[in-house]
Amino acid sequence: MVRARNVHKSFGANEVLKGIDLDVGQGEVVVILGPSGSGKSTFLRCINQLEKMDRGSIEVAGEQIGYELRDGRLLALSPRAVARQRRRIGMVFQQFNLYPHMTVLQNVVEAPIGIHGVPRAEAEAYAMELLVKVGLPEKAHAYPRQLSGGQQQRVAIARALAIKPRLILFDEPTSALDPELVGEVLETMRGLADQGLTMIVVTHEIGFAREAADRVVFMDGGVVVEQGRPEDVLVNPRQPRTRAFLARVI
Ligand code: ADP
Ligand code: MG
Repeated sequence: MVRARNVHKSFGANEVLKGIDLDVGQGEVVVILGPSGSGKSTFLRCINQLEKMDRGSIEVAGEQIGYELRDGRLLALSPRAVARQRRRIGMVFQQFNLYPHMTVLQNVVEAPIGIHGVPRAEAEAYAMELLVKVGLPEKAHAYPRQLSGGQQQRVAIARALAIKPRLILFDEPTSALDPELVGEVLETMRGLADQGLTMIVVTHEIGFAREAADRVVFMDGGVVVEQGRPEDVLVNPRQPRTRAFLARVI
């Protein structure tokens, strides 16, 4: 589903991604761990074309992102074509970014109706299914400010699912939550993982990595330092940098 090769990204003189290689299979759940500032968010943002990589390539579902091959040459895609590619990638951020003036249901149907042109009745019926899935059908007509942080994040997950993404990216989805609200969001994410969604999750929740990840990737200093099955990477890390990081967070 994702094939990243030699992805580089600098901000001015600050080289943040120094050649990331990563493959994610269909239905795979990959958890990315790593210290703050190691480039995890930047990498997710490159996959979703919120940032433009400087060098390297990323394929999503077999399509080169940001470029197309025409007459044997790689040409930058038009903004419209980039928007089309982004439409099937869901993203959940640390800050839920719900529209405060819209109800939960309006938040969830906004992209399917506005961007994908799904008829309202169909979009709302599917949105209600998703709200059942994240455990919040009774909140459909509430406003974000009437919900707890955990509930808002579950709405944000429903909103990301509403576009029927082939890939969903989570960037520290529980980091902004009070500790007692983290569990309900992780539980929702575990449910999605069990349903075969392809997920890349940046998180510091080692328990989630252990239970839900097919693979754990440890990033540091803009490169992938180590990756493997959670029971290997989390229990017997091979690289000193992974060991030092895990000793700090577990
Ligand atoms: P992580 O998510 O692993 O904490 P980030 O990808 O957010 O790391 O950031 C990596 C580095 O890139 C940091 O030094 C950060 O300051 C820098 N950075 C991220 N986004 C920008 C930006 N838009 N402009 C300038 N520097 C940025
Ligand atoms: Mg980050």
